[in-house]
Order: sequence, then C-alpha cells, then structure tokens
Amino acid sequence: MARTNILLEFNRLQNEVSELDTPAAQVRKIVDSVSEIIGTDVCTLYLKDQHDDMVLVSSHGLVDTGPVSIPAGRGLVGLVARERHALNVARASAHPNFFYVEGTAEERFESFCGVPLVHYGKVIGVLVVQRTGAVALDSDSEALLITLCSQLAHIVADMPVTLQGAHINTYIGGVRGSSGIGIGQGVLCDHGELFSVADEPCTDVEAAIAEWHALLHKVRAELEHEESLLSAQLPTQASSLFHTYSSLLADHALIQQVESEIRNGNWLPGALRKSIHYFANLFLEMEDPYLRARHEDIHHLGNKLYASLQGKNALAERIASVQQVILIGDQVSISDIAAVPSDKLAGIICFEGSSMSHTAVLANALGVPAVMGIGVLKHLRSRERFIVDGNTGRIVRYPNDRLCSEFQQLINEERLLLDKLSALRDLPAITPDDHEIRLLTNSGLLADLSPGRKHGAQGIGLYRTEIPFLVRDSFPSEQEQVDVYGEVFKAYAGMPVYMRTLDVGGDKQLPYFPITDEENPALGWRGIRFSIDNIQLLMTQVRAMLRAGGTTGDLHVLLPMISAAEELNSFNELLSEALRQLGEEGYPVRRPRVGVMVEVPAAISQLPFWRNRIDFVSIGSNDLTQYLLALDRNNSRVASRYDSLHPAVIHEINRTVVIARDCGLALSLCGEMAADPLAVILLIGMGITTLSMSAVKLPRIKYLIRKLPQQRAAQILKQCLTLDSAQDIRAVLNVELQKLELTELIK
Ligand code: PEP
Ligand code: MG
Repeated sequence: MARTNILLEFNRLQNEVSELDTPAAQVRKIVDSVSEIIGTDVCTLYLKDQHDDMVLVSSHGLVDTGPVSIPAGRGLVGLVARERHALNVARASAHPNFFYVEGTAEERFESFCGVPLVHYGKVIGVLVVQRTGAVALDSDSEALLITLCSQLAHIVADMPVTLQGAHINTYIGGVRGSSGIGIGQGVLCDHGELFSVADEPCTDVEAAIAEWHALLHKVRAELEHEESLLSAQLPTQASSLFHTYSSLLADHALIQQVESEIRNGNWLPGALRKSIHYFANLFLEMEDPYLRARHEDIHHLGNKLYASLQGKNALAERIASVQQVILIGDQVSISDIAAVPSDKLAGIICFEGSSMSHTAVLANALGVPAVMGIGVLKHLRSRERFIVDGNTGRIVRYPNDRLCSEFQQLINEERLLLDKLSALRDLPAITPDDHEIRLLTNSGLLADLSPGRKHGAQGIGLYRTEIPFLVRDSFPSEQEQVDVYGEVFKAYAGMPVYMRTLDVGGDKQLPYFPITDEENPALGWRGIRFSIDNIQLLMTQVRAMLRAGGTTGDLHVLLPMISAAEELNSFNELLSEALRQLGEEGYPVRRPRVGVMVEVPAAISQLPFWRNRIDFVSIGSNDLTQYLLALDRNNSRVASRYDSLHPAVIHEINRTVVIARDCGLALSLCGEMAADPLAVILLIGMGITTLSMSAVKLPRIKYLIRKLPQQRAAQILKQCLTLDSAQDIRAVLNVELQKLELTELIK
C-alpha cells in the first residue's frame, strides 16, 4: 500500500470507530479494519489487565473460544510487551516463546507480527496480525502496522479490559449448596438449556447437516409418539401445542436457517441456538399478544431438540477427557453426579435450587463443593474454567490464573485442616465433661461408604435407599437390592445401619416413574405415602433389606415422611408378612428395629401414641424446617429465609427430644444440622447423643464435641430458647465458637 494512503486509512478508521457507541463494537471495528488494511487473515487486540496479563479483547479471524487471557510475560505477545518492539516472524510455532491459545484454531496461521500499543510511555496492549502462509510481513506492511498502532493506542487506552465482552474474574452469587472450593472445567448436564450452549467450529459441515435432518426426523417421531400416548387425556390446548411443535419442525425457514448457520462454520448445537434465538425474537417483536407468546413455544422446541441431540452424547463420554469436572445444569440430577467418578468431580453449579435441594444434600454427602440457584448461565463455552466457592455460595466465571492460584491456596489450607483432624479418627467423640456422642454417617451411593469409614463413622445413621433407585433406568429387582444393601452391611459389619425405605417424590423424581403433575410436590406423593400406595415396591424393598441384613447385620428400618398411625400400622403388617414369607422360604432373617423420621411436624405430638409400635426416632431437620416454616427447601427465591436456626425449629426439636426421652425412645438427628457446628452446640445442649452427617463433616464435629462441655452447651441452649430470631441465636453461637477458638470449623 502506498504510504500516502496510511493517514487516509487511519482517519477513515478513526471516524468509523467514533461513530460506534460501545467499546465492544469499536474494538471489533479496529481488528476488522486493520486486517483489511494490512491484508491479513487474523488481527487480534490484547490489552493488559491490572495483573499485567494480556487479555484478548477482540479478534478478527480467530475462532471465538471465549475468554482468553495470556499470563504476564508468556508467549510471543508477552515478549512483545516486555521488549517493547515489534516482532515479525514467519513461523510462530517455531519460536521458543510460542504459547498456544487453546481452541482458537490459531495453529492454522503460521506467520505472526505483534506490535506493542504504547500510551504515555507504558505498554497497554499488543496488536497481532497473522497469516496462514509461513511468510513474515513485508517491511512496508510492518511499518504501516507500527504507524497504525501508534495512533490506535490512544483510541483504546481508556477502553475497559474485558474478555470478548465479558469481564474476567466475574463473581456470580448464588446459594451455598455444599461447602468447599473446586476449580475445574464446566460440563453441561444432559438436560442443559439450549441457550447455555456455546459456538464451536464445525469440523464436518455435511455430516452436521445430515445430523440436523436426522434430529428433525427423530424429534418428529418422538412428538408423534408422545401425542398418541396422551391423546386420550389431552385438553385441546395441550394437543394444539403438539401441533405447533410439529409445524415449526416442518417449517423450511427454520430448517434452512440452521443449515446456513452450519455452513457459516458453527457446530450443530450452536447453529440451533442461534436459529431458535432468531425465530423466538421474531415472535417477540410481534404486536399480537397471542403470537408474541409463541416465542416460548419456540424456546421449548429448541430445548426439546437439544435434549434429543444430547441423548446420544452421554455425559460419561463428554467428561472422558476432562480432568476436573464442574457439573452445570438447571438442577444437576443425582444420576448426573453418579456418572462422574468421585475423584474427577470438582464442583457442582445449579441454575436453580437451594442448599436443601437433594442435589446439595448429596453433594454434601460426597464432600463436593456446590453452589445453587445462580440463574441460567448463558453461552457456556465447552470446557470453560470455573471456580466454585461453596463456602460463600459464589462462582467465578472466567477466572484468570492468578485468582485460580489464590483459590488453590484455600483448597490446600482446607486439606491441611482435614489432615490435622484425621488424627481424631479413632478417638471417641466425648465432651470434656464425659458425655459420649455417637457419630454416624449419611450415605446413599456405594461411593460414599468408604469415606464414612475413613473419617471414623460408628455406623450409618441414614442410608438413603432412593439414591440407588435414582441412578438407574428401571426399578431394581429384589436380588439387585440385596446385592447393594449387602455391600453396605459388609462395609459396616458389626455397626448399626439405619436404612430408610424409598423416599422419592418432591425433588427426587425417578426417571422411570416421574410424578410431574402435582401442584405442590413437597406436600404430595412422597416418602411412605408413595411406598404404601405402591406396596409391591415396598414389599420387594423390605424383603431385600431383611435378606441383606440376615441375622448378623444391625438393621434399623427408618420410615420417611410418617404423619399418621395408619401408615405405621400398614408398614408393621407388611414387615410381619415379609418376615413370614422369608422364614418359609428358608432365609435366615430376624425382626429389625423400626423407627420413624420426625420431619413432618405432625409426628412430634404423636410419638407418645406410637411408642409401642416403634423403637426409635430420627429427626430429619431438613424437611422439618421446610414444613415448620412453610418454606420450599428447593426454592432459591426463599433460600435466605430457610434457616434451621429459626427459633421455632429449635423449640420443636427440643420438644421432640423431651417427648422421645419421656417415651423411652432412642433418638438421633440426621439432617444437615448435624454437620453445622453452630447447630451442634444446641443439639448437644438438648442432650442428643446420636448425630448422623456427611462423612467429610464428621471430623470437624468430633473436634467440636471434644472441646465443648455438655453443661456449657445446655446453658447456651437455655439462653437461645429465650431469643426470637435466628440472627440473634447465630450471634450467640458464633461468640461461643470464638471462645472455644473453633471459628476455623465454620468455613
Ligand atoms: C431430612 O429431611 O432432614 C432428611 C435427612 O432427609 P432428606 O434430606 O433425604 O429428605
Ligand atoms: Mg427428609
């Protein structure tokens, strides 16, 4: 290009940039124009952040992989910034400082010319141009680029340093699900939202188009099948929905739009997201309110197509090459969690839910950090890096290396604390004034049996039998259940095992027996109610428990959600019948102890009536709090109100302890309160002698108990029973922990 044109070109660029009103559009214009002026395939702008890392702000020609930040001083970009002069090489990958930016498909571009952007003597960024051929930029073009950059520096100097429009180290607040910190790569669960899907390069356009047509065909067939199944009961509105879906699927505009997105280089999920977004917006802009509302149908159809596409891409396949997995989804299901080997699962992020959702409860049991209720994360890149901070209930999106190493430091400190506590493994949980507390563990997956043993659990205080049911695609047979429960008795030989009968319903839906038509699932067909109405399932389960326990296993059968004597009577009859049958069949079995969960508040006043029909009670403080406070444990909107330290909960638990003692009933507590050091002060004060909790929390609670005299706990309880707010109760308990120098326990 003739030198006389340089200034003209620059003035044109400057004018065009000043016409644009967002920094994102301005930098986009700059990289597009520079690429055009110099005649290169790629032009990328990096700006320095406050840590001197080089943040990719905008690029023409590189695949948009999402946030890219090159650590200070690294790579050719770092070299240009450090040495403050242009670097022009024919073959970038052969340079000793080469640093490959993963996923950008940068390897296609051989040559590299980087020029520092200097503003008042300071390097504020680097502009890079690249070409496919291994030929360095000619000296005229290099000079042109240097001249352009000297002017550009002043335009970009005041622009915010953001990663392709998204700020680095973006904190997003949610609700604490399970404590601990995890760093890893995000993997979207099967039922992920289409709008969370990222753009990715399409490697084989024809194959992707064929896949798109196959998908259309498959979803059409699925819709027809669903409609035929439901046609008898369908109200006309729902039936017309099927009709709407089918006609949308047949619409050429949609079919072609997806095809053209694929031809533009996007993979099928990205092409689908863009097209669905486009059509949904068309409807949203319509004046007619009926037509406007149809945008939701399009969105639903998009999710349906995406779910069907995901179906053949099992989670196990997608996590195969990921080292540390952060599972992400609306509500990450128990079967998703089970699909990831425990040493790979670094964290869980749920768009919905709260700390008491069963996902959170299971994450706690497994010691996996989890943050709930953060709202939908859009445009997730594949393998995007996340930090899950379950201690504060936040996640960090686009964390840079520096922040990751700060969080890694916290993970290391946490490990050190656990190491210190592991010395207590074989010591009893005994208060300084000689009150011994039995510490049991909550379990449900075979994978969490050994952590309990490792942390010194004296038995299983709650075995959630629904978990093995939830991770399958059909009801397990009696023998399959005998095998699973047999493992539990084997792992805890000679120790008590409290096995709870199936507690499905509410937020625990069996994939093969969904109960989706309830207005209030938490008040619906749950726990013992479901089991009694499906007596064949209960009979099979009880037979399996008895067979697995045999005459040596210390089986305690625990009944969930009991609220009426009839439920207890039905169960006891069934138990007698199961014992009779198995005896006749020649199995060596014996009558187990039977107890009820106190989690529906109605059970509390009824304990004296049931005393001769049960042997023990176990307080389920998670549901007891939900039902006492009328606060859905799974609803992130009310999560901050859900508090087991609410005075009403403390009073009712205390009342239960007193009634059980008067009735001569053994009592334990197996909700999450048992793992909360603050709550445990009160529980010890009430005189509770058995607590069951997730294995990873057990050492902390033992440490607390060994420092806390029971008499002191009783005094604190007395004081707290006079208070009328959870906040005040928490303040008193915090002061006590400080006095005991135990605040490190409540991270
Ligand atoms: C409870 O409700 O406290 C309990 C232990 O059971 P789950 O959390 O499984 O409902
Ligand atoms: Mg419960």
